[in-house]
Amino acid sequence: MKRIAIVGGGIAGLTAAYELSRLASSGVAVEATLFEASPRLGGIVETVREGGFVIECGPDAWVTEKPWARELAEELGLGDEIMPSNDATRKTYVLMDRQLKAMPDGMRMMVPSNLAALDHSDLFSAEAKRAYHDEVNRAAELKASPPQQDESVAEFVQRHFGTEVLEKIGAPLLRGVFGGDVAKLSVNAVMAPFVAMEREHGSLISAMQIRAAAKESNEDAVFTTLQSGLGTLVDRMIAAIPKAWIHLGTAIHSIARDGDSWNVKTSSTQEAFDAILIAAPVHVARTLLQPTDARAAELMEMDASSAVIVAFGFPEATEFSTPPGFGFLVPQDSGSRLLACTFVDQKFASRVPKNGKLVRAFFGGDAAERLMRCGNDEVASVARLELAPILGPLPEPQVTVVRRWPKSLPQYAVGHIERMKELDERLLKIPGLSLLGNGYRGVGLPDLIRDARTAARQIA
Ligand SMILES: Cc1cc2nc3c(=O)[nH]c(=O)nc-3n(C[C@H](O)[C@H](O)[C@H](O)COP(=O)(O)OP(=O)(O)OC[C@H]3O[C@@H](n4cnc5c(N)ncnc54)[C@H](O)[C@@H]3O)c2cc1C
Repeated sequence: MKRIAIVGGGIAGLTAAYELSRLASSGVAVEATLFEASPRLGGIVETVREGGFVIECGPDAWVTEKPWARELAEELGLGDEIMPSNDATRKTYVLMDRQLKAMPDGMRMMVPSNLAALDHSDLFSAEAKRAYHDEVNRAAELKASPPQQDESVAEFVQRHFGTEVLEKIGAPLLRGVFGGDVAKLSVNAVMAPFVAMEREHGSLISAMQIRAAAKESNEDAVFTTLQSGLGTLVDRMIAAIPKAWIHLGTAIHSIARDGDSWNVKTSSTQEAFDAILIAAPVHVARTLLQPTDARAAELMEMDASSAVIVAFGFPEATEFSTPPGFGFLVPQDSGSRLLACTFVDQKFASRVPKNGKLVRAFFGGDAAERLMRCGNDEVASVARLELAPILGPLPEPQVTVVRRWPKSLPQYAVGHIERMKELDERLLKIPGLSLLGNGYRGVGLPDLIRDARTAARQIA
C-alpha cells in the first residue's frame, strides 16, 4: 500500500485527496492523510449561506473557457447546479473622479475589440483613445520587434496602449487577481494569451477583432459558478473522501527525506510516508522544503499580498440601487481604499432573497494589510464609509460577512516561468514530492484542480 501525505486542504490539496480516493476505490493500492492546519477544509474557497443570501468569501466563479472545474463539478453530481454569469448585463465600471464610468463593450481585460464602442466611452481621454487606434496601425512594428525576454505587465501594456490605459484598467484588473504590482508582474506568466497574440498579429486589438468575428453569437458566459456556491464543490469532495484520511487542526512543521520515505512532523507526532504532496501556500511550502533543497526554496521566494472581503446583504433594497452590471474597479490614487466591488445579485442569479441586494467589497495591497489588524466591526464600517460616496448611503444590512485572506495572492514576478522551470527540474530529482497550489502554474480554480488531479495520479 502506497501511503501519501497531503499538506494543506485548500482546493488544491482537497482535490488531490479526492483523486486519490477515487483511485483507491478503483482498486489502486494507495491511501492518503490530508493534514490541514485550520479547523476547516476548502482554504480560500468558502461559501456562507445566511438569510437567503449566498455569500462567497473567496472565489465566486471560474473562467468558463477552462474546463477542469466544470468537469469536476459534473463528476460530483453537480451538473444541475452549474450556472453562468448573467452576461446579458455584463458591464464593469471604473471609479474616476468619485463617479462610476462604464468600460466600453467588447473589452477583454484592457483590450477592446470594438473601437466604435471605445470612441463613445467617457472613461478614456482623447489621447488614450488615439493610442488605442494607433495600436492597430503599429501592428507590423509590434510584431517585428517583440522583446526577447520576459517583461513586466506594465511595460507590455504601455508598449501597446500607454500609461492611462495601464493605470485606469490594467493595474486594478491584475491587482485583484495576482496581488501584484504591474511593474513587477511577469507578462509571460499572467497574460500569456496576449503575448501569443502579439507574436502572431502584432496588434492585440486586431487579434481580438479576428477572434470576436470567429465566435458564435451565442458565446458562453465568461464566468461559471454553482447555484449554491463554490463551497458545495468542497462539501461534495469531503463526502467522497474516507473520513479517516482527514486530519483537521493539524499543521505540518517539518518534512525530511529519510531513506526511501518522507518523515512528516506535526508539533507532537511524526509519521513516515512514501510520498508527499505539499499544497500549503507557497511561503509555507518554501519553509518546509528549505532543509531538503535550499535552491528550490530560493526559487519559491515570492511576494504575496493579502485580501479582505466584506459582503453586505440587504433584504428589501428598494431604496438602494446599483448601476446595471457586475461591479467596479478602483484605480490607485483615486482617493478610495477599495480595490473593487461586485454587485453580486446582478452578476449571478439566485444569490439573494426576493428584492434583496448583495454587495461585496474587496480590499487589497496596503489597505488590506492595515485592515488585517482591525476587528470585524471596524472593517465593515471602513467598507461602508468607502462605498457610500460611490453608491449613495447604504441601508442597514441584514447580513455582514468579513473575511481576511493573508498572503493569499502570490505575485508572479518577471522571470517566473523560467524560475518554475528550474524548480520543476530540481523536483524531478527529489523522489516522491510534488508542489501544488496557487504559487506555481496559475491561481485560478480550474488550473489548480487540473494540476492536483494530474499530480495525484502520477504520485499514486
Ligand atoms: C479574495 C479572493 C478571490 C478570488 N477569486 C477567485 C475567483 O473568482 N476565481 C478563481 O478561479 N480564483 C479566485 N481566487 C484565487 C483562488 O481562490 C486561489 O488561488 C485558490 O483558492 C488557492 O487554493 P490553494 O489550495 O492553492 O490554497 P489555499 O486555499 O490557501 O489552501 C492552503 C491550505 O493550506 C493550509 N495550511 C497552511 N499551512 C499549513 C501547514 N503547515 N500544514 C497544514 N496545512 C497548512 C491552509 O490552512 C489552507 O487551508 C481568489 C482568491 C482570493 C484571495
